[in-house]
Amino acid sequence: MKIPMSEDDSTTGEGARDFIRDVVRGDLDAGRVETVVTRFPPEPNGYLHIGHAKSMCLNFGVAEEFGGRCHLRFDDTNPTKEAHEYIDGIQEDVRWLGFEWGEHLHFASDNFEQLYGWAEYLIGAGKAYVDDHSADEIRAHRGTLTEPGRESPYRERSADESLDLFRRMRAGEFAFGARVLRAKIDMASGNINLRDPVLYRILHAPHPRTGEDWCLYPTYDFAHGQSDAIEGVTHSLCTLEFEDHRPLYDWLADNLPVPSRPRQYEFSRLNLTHTVLSKRRLIQLVEDGHVTGWDDPRMPTLRGLRRRGFPPAAVRDFVSRVGITKSDSVVEMALLEHCARELLNKVALRRLAVLRPLKVVIENYPEGQAEDLEAINNPEDAAAGTRKVPFSRELYIEREDFMEDPPRKFFRLAPGREVRLRYAYFITCREVVKDAAGEVIELRCTYDPTTQGGDAPDGRKVKATLHWVSAAHAVSAKVLLYDHLFTRSDPGAEGDILEDLNSESLTVLDNCCLEPALLDSPPGEAVQFERQGYFSLDPNVSPGRLVFNRTVALRDTWAKIQAKERP
Ligand code: ATP
Ligand code: MG
Repeated sequence: MKIPMSEDDSTTGEGARDFIRDVVRGDLDAGRVETVVTRFPPEPNGYLHIGHAKSMCLNFGVAEEFGGRCHLRFDDTNPTKEAHEYIDGIQEDVRWLGFEWGEHLHFASDNFEQLYGWAEYLIGAGKAYVDDHSADEIRAHRGTLTEPGRESPYRERSADESLDLFRRMRAGEFAFGARVLRAKIDMASGNINLRDPVLYRILHAPHPRTGEDWCLYPTYDFAHGQSDAIEGVTHSLCTLEFEDHRPLYDWLADNLPVPSRPRQYEFSRLNLTHTVLSKRRLIQLVEDGHVTGWDDPRMPTLRGLRRRGFPPAAVRDFVSRVGITKSDSVVEMALLEHCARELLNKVALRRLAVLRPLKVVIENYPEGQAEDLEAINNPEDAAAGTRKVPFSRELYIEREDFMEDPPRKFFRLAPGREVRLRYAYFITCREVVKDAAGEVIELRCTYDPTTQGGDAPDGRKVKATLHWVSAAHAVSAKVLLYDHLFTRSDPGAEGDILEDLNSESLTVLDNCCLEPALLDSPPGEAVQFERQGYFSLDPNVSPGRLVFNRTVALRDTWAKIQAKERP
């Protein structure tokens, strides 16, 4: 597995260098291009995932760096799978990631009339024909990588006959699949995309934007390049699977009276461990109920990441560290988490939250008394100031911070042992209370009033500092912890991806106790629960209920991976 990251990688994207930026710089320097125009071209058949973020950062990034512009273009040529919901959602997601297309919102469907005209133009020039073959027959004639294709018997029909049939296709005279329009290129070409590719197919389906206007639709190949040319796109940047389509992209541009001549360049897709980046698969996860929706925080979608609390800047940083190359690789999910952690560490307010509470009674602390202790909001940012945290006789600590019979390396609370409570006092465990089943339900402790603030005047040390929350002041909340959606780093590599789903990808903790300051947490804003990780308030929850999503834990598996790789 390749991990494309070195320590001196730029993290802002500014001044980034890669083969595409080299091409753009060369075109500008040589005067071949005056203004760089790129486009991000999603098909509105699902929501965007983090793979799309790579394409956006490249397209919008290049345009910005070289003083050009980037269009948002919907490649909406397959109405059976596309919907308004996605058109709107995608725009939201592009903006969330930090990109803006201004007046350059385009749709391939804006060009349907022009594309149709160009199809007639090709027929008239003897470069396209209507084929009566079915999809199966066309496939059977296509040949293979090693065998040439065979020509359709309809290939030599006259331009007039094709034109007549094509017009009748548009008029709705024929059924779905009855006929297609094909470019007349070369059935013996080594490139299968040049073996008389289909340009139009009949689809009696309403379109989200053009409604019932059309019952035949251009294929991706016909619509995409020509839309680029209409919009004046100079550099059409796409992923490597389109490399074999480039000769067709060029053939169409060379054989049509298009108003400009874009060039296509391909880069490798983003692949990420422990997840899938394919809308088709993501739709399946949503529709079959394996996740709660496109915005399930375990999804690699931008809405999933947003709901989980990933800052857009962390996603952009991640993409820029991965870089742009032509070689396929799989990037560790841990790198994405690392980017989030690094950014959140600088900005997140620190808070005390007990996720699995164990009650502690401080026997020598007066009943009914409480005091406010000063706590630092963010040690990385003095300007974040301090806050008051209430302390009282009954507290909660984390269940896993106590062991009745601790092993050698467990330094936290145990019978007879003294530890520090963060921002508060030293406490010593005096007695363990259990229920009838033998489970520990309460600890009776004492505190040392002279240790307020966390240090003992006599200089004695403790080995652990625990977080805690005053029981009387605690705010109750639900906290959701997430793990990888798939157990395998390469889901589906050895069978059905559904078998690789991680049954423990979600842990729901219902009775968490938070310090009261967390009541004021705005949805989506990151906080650090001390010693645990970064969390943010779920934006989809009804008012009055507190649900926090864990963005990432504090433990940094990426740092570990890197440490291991270094000699
Ligand atoms: P999917 O396979 O998830 O359906 P797609 O390529 O069909 O993705 P589009 O909506 O056509 O989705 O993609 C819009 C743009 O985003 C295209 O230019 C495509 O190349 C790019 N893109 C899609 N997935 C990735 C990825 N994993 N890494 C980089 N770019 C991607
Ligand atoms: Mg696609």
